[in-house]
Amino acid sequence: MQKGSVLPGKDSSEIADEKKLLVPGLGSLLAKFGRANELYSAMVDSLSRVLFRYPLIDSAGLTYSAEWIGTPNMGLRRPNYVIIHHTANNSCEETLQEFTTTGGREASAHYVICKDGTVHHMLNDLLCSHHAGESKWGNNTDLNSSSIGIELVNNGSEPFTEEQINSLAILLERLKAAYKIPDAHFIGHADIAPTRKVDPSSKFPWQTLSDKGFGLWWDDTTVVQVPDNFDYLMGLRIIGYGISNPDAAVAAFKRHFMADNSRAMNAQVRKIIYVLYRKFE
Ligand SMILES: [Zn+2]
Repeated sequence: MQKGSVLPGKDSSEIADEKKLLVPGLGSLLAKFGRANELYSAMVDSLSRVLFRYPLIDSAGLTYSAEWIGTPNMGLRRPNYVIIHHTANNSCEETLQEFTTTGGREASAHYVICKDGTVHHMLNDLLCSHHAGESKWGNNTDLNSSSIGIELVNNGSEPFTEEQINSLAILLERLKAAYKIPDAHFIGHADIAPTRKVDPSSKFPWQTLSDKGFGLWWDDTTVVQVPDNFDYLMGLRIIGYGISNPDAAVAAFKRHFMADNSRAMNAQVRKIIYVLYRKFE
């Protein structure tokens, strides 16, 4: 397999720069996981049949007017968030195995990035993968429906490889351009599920990615004066964090923005929350 390659999905995220991301030939992975491709096709086929049904039958299940009139003015819904994960395992193959297994947890992601920088594109961006689980960001309580999930192969305590981060940056650039995803909408799994998740770990280079326009960051705080009446939990809430468990929200914030795994609150944390909160005013 070639480094920095994308396997093999084609959708609107593939907008440019084929020089950087090459499509490799067929490899032994297909022999191992090819059955999942057949299941993918069957699944897409079954979903498309839902779309062809009319009069419309969808979630509301109600009876509407006697005559059904459809509108041709439509398009597919676009992802508006990118959620970054680490796999908490040791190999790409282990992850592919998990994401092609049916009948269990049925977890998945749109993209898996191996340690050598290879990118597996497992699901069309316009479909929903099962990566976020029970989650909340701002008032959005269904992140799976509005986001792209990207898993980086990493055991949770080791550094991410340079090849992985390079491939990730190229991928994010394409996703951001294709779907016009705002800078602030590149976040981590732990940000949207602070009581359940700790990924990506504090070793994830959020600042480097923010410099490229993916995710927020903060500047020098030396001269910042935090008003006495500033409520840091309200600040976290405005940034997007669910604050039903304040300690968990602070821990997720510190892991993301301070590469710190503790949950202790202090003046510097408060200052950084304030600086980021101000970006939303
Ligand atoms: Zn995760």
